[in-house]
Amino acid sequence: MDSITSLDKQYVAGTYGRFPVELVSGKGSILKDAAGKEYIDMGSGIGVTSFGIADDQWATAVANQALTLQHTSNLYYTQPCAELAQMLCQKTGMKKVFFSNSGAEANECAIKVARKYSAQKKGSQYYTIITLKNSFHGRTLTTLAATGQDHFHELFQPLTPGFAYAAANDVDGLKKLVAEVSAAGIMIECVQGEGGVQPLSQEFVSAAAKLAQENDIPLIIDEVQTGNGRTGALYCYMHFGITPDIVSTAKGLGGGLPIGATLMSEKVQDVLSAGDHGSTYGGNPVSCAGACTVIRRMDEDCLSSVREKSAYIFSALSGAPGIKNVTGMGLMIGIETERPAKTIVSECIEKGVLCLTAKTKVRLLPALNIPMEQLEKAVSVIKEVCAKKEDD
Ligand SMILES: *Cc1c(COP(=O)(O)O)cnc(C)c1O
Repeated sequence: MDSITSLDKQYVAGTYGRFPVELVSGKGSILKDAAGKEYIDMGSGIGVTSFGIADDQWATAVANQALTLQHTSNLYYTQPCAELAQMLCQKTGMKKVFFSNSGAEANECAIKVARKYSAQKKGSQYYTIITLKNSFHGRTLTTLAATGQDHFHELFQPLTPGFAYAAANDVDGLKKLVAEVSAAGIMIECVQGEGGVQPLSQEFVSAAAKLAQENDIPLIIDEVQTGNGRTGALYCYMHFGITPDIVSTAKGLGGGLPIGATLMSEKVQDVLSAGDHGSTYGGNPVSCAGACTVIRRMDEDCLSSVREKSAYIFSALSGAPGIKNVTGMGLMIGIETERPAKTIVSECIEKGVLCLTAKTKVRLLPALNIPMEQLEKAVSVIKEVCAKKEDD
């Protein structure tokens, strides 16, 4: 029989630089490869499996829903979709939810809502969405345009027009851009994830919210990576004391099945009407049943344990040999290392720990419920690998 790797290399499009690991199963924060070797999972997909691999509550809800009613189309009403929307609104104060299948789609919807709101309110020349340099908002041609990193844009021109980029944490620059362009929206990640796990400053987030409000420009918070408990609050914007008009999320919401959600505040809740937007799989009962078990568990106990584990990681790694700095919030952590991040990740794999990278950093996004003992073991491996010198 051909190995998983050789089949994949032959038949799967080469869009991913995969690590040489064939994963076959797991439980919680432990993954197993085809040879039976175990790994501690410090990435949870990319912040997707919020409560770990094959989590009992999640898997039971998903299996039961699959055995009951796996799909209906959006021509009919279904319980998991309605219940998830209610839970998201009650926990955030937002008023309406549109469900899709990914982060990029959640952002596409957010952009459509902001553009329609502004076109109706101010005129069709108000279409520009202001995003930030070093941001990441997705891979579709529109969310790629929203992404403020040139290297993603090369060779895919022309991208969707109508985006302008401000520098993160530059309040004056953002003010200037708002005055210059006919903005339909401001879209930010409170912690830039793919951009290297860089939190925005409180001053900048507050200023963005204030500018958006004063100029009646919908404020979109991209919570695809930061959302669903990841940073120690249900959504990261909650740490900053602001009220967004639109929140997009995905990744950890589904706990391992595809889902995207675009949450709309009172101001924009009725912008989209029948026929304006849609998605065949959007609000799929199986994905939503799984997501309900994720959001239901996001109580204060869960969030405070995320903050405690975060504090442990920061104190264990900050200032350790071979580590230049540690950034991030909650269980979304970036580590600037002296040796290349790719090398650190490869050596961690050999020692049975799976980590991620973000730009030049090692990135950690463990499951929110990773047991302390496994977290300590993984952190000690990461520490040991970071401390190594190139010629050791
Ligand atoms: C991952 C990510 C996206 C894209 O999500 P997909 O599900 O891959 O489409 C968008 N925004 C942010 C902040 C992300 O981290």
